[in-house]
Amino acid sequence: MNAPGDCLDAIVIGGGFYGSAIAVHLARQRGLKRIVLLERESGLLRRASYNNQARVHNGYHYPRSFTTAYRSRINLPRFVADWPNAVKSDFTKLYAIARHNSKVTARQFERFCHDIGAQVRRADAAAHGLFEPRLIEAVFQVQEYAFDSTRLAHWAERELADCGVQIRLLTRATEIYQGPDSTLQVVTESEGGPQRLSCRYLFNCTYSGSNHFNGEFPGLDTDLRHEITEMALMQMPSALQGLGVTVMDGPFFSMMPFPSRNLHTLSHVRFTPHLHWDDEKSINPYDRLAGHERASRVERMVRDVARYIPAILDSQHIDSLYEVKTVLARNDRNDGRPILFEKHASLPGCYSVLGGKIDNIYDVLEKLDNEVF
Ligand SMILES: Cc1cc2nc3c(=O)[nH]c(=O)nc-3n(C[C@H](O)[C@H](O)[C@H](O)COP(=O)(O)OP(=O)(O)OC[C@H]3O[C@@H](n4cnc5c(N)ncnc54)[C@H](O)[C@@H]3O)c2cc1C
Repeated sequence: MNAPGDCLDAIVIGGGFYGSAIAVHLARQRGLKRIVLLERESGLLRRASYNNQARVHNGYHYPRSFTTAYRSRINLPRFVADWPNAVKSDFTKLYAIARHNSKVTARQFERFCHDIGAQVRRADAAAHGLFEPRLIEAVFQVQEYAFDSTRLAHWAERELADCGVQIRLLTRATEIYQGPDSTLQVVTESEGGPQRLSCRYLFNCTYSGSNHFNGEFPGLDTDLRHEITEMALMQMPSALQGLGVTVMDGPFFSMMPFPSRNLHTLSHVRFTPHLHWDDEKSINPYDRLAGHERASRVERMVRDVARYIPAILDSQHIDSLYEVKTVLARNDRNDGRPILFEKHASLPGCYSVLGGKIDNIYDVLEKLDNEVF
């Protein structure tokens, strides 16, 4: 336990992008002084905040969830302004509409882009030439960016150090309790053995691990769903190098620059999810991923993508990123990515936060700013 009477202002559990950005915000904007950030990995932003498709969303991806599309439109310019060094914009982004099995037609997509105020125009002939015309109805050039998670991690390390947040790596929070005098207590496990820390405010920013604490943690009110995902990392042939491509909206695929490795990610709606399950206490998502046989499905991804974009056959598979993707169960079907922000009534001062995508951070910070600390 920290020394008797030695109560921290706040503990943030989870050193992903959310936990890091929230700890910085609490220190800089909300004046909390003694903050400890706990992270089970050996560095910051090593889990979902690294192992993802690195898309700074601008709405295009969500024709079935107007709210998520609209919030993306609001948040993208803020994200670009706040993390300019971590944003890659020097590539051409294409959205293509499939002729068969698509949940959206070219006309509907164009209208939807106008409705959310997102830039869209028919792509030029060279871009069209990359696609198999019998399978693709239309190709649009849009404005969408990628983020570099390694640079976001460097930002987090610098900012947290600058504002005096103490980072404890290789430290797992295992139990949460109500302590005396409106305090909260967190039991941690690390190489040095178990420890008990005491704080006034506690922020659970553990994404896939959000429900996996013992003690008096009541669990989330919102149901979660997990997927083990594979994002293939590809060296693209020159024809596809300066491009990002997403085929909408159904059992299709997406390729995006992945700036941290100077490669592209390739994901496929049918092959990227290896398995999924509803969150339950007895299955720790991190353990499940650790025990998952990482048999890559990249060949199947490439085979299907090549029907639409033959040039992909000249790409080379370099690596695959495996991660647990966690979404709110109610959004599994409409693809919406709202935030989860819960205050636990039985543990006053304890909050759980889950951001469906990186730029939702602003929606979380707005909620935090309505809280009195
Ligand atoms: C395959 C995939 C593709 C995605 N594509 C995109 C995309 O293109 N664009 C986009 O904006 N978003 C995308 N996302 C979503 C985005 O990655 C997440 O919204 C975001 O990274 C969540 O950040 P986080 O900090 O909450 O989670 P994380 O980065 O996972 O951070 C949680 C941290 O908590 C730590 N932790 C967990 N339990 C404990 C514990 N008990 N004690 C201590 N530490 C603990 C973990 O080690 C981890 O570092 C994607 C996600 C996945 C998985």
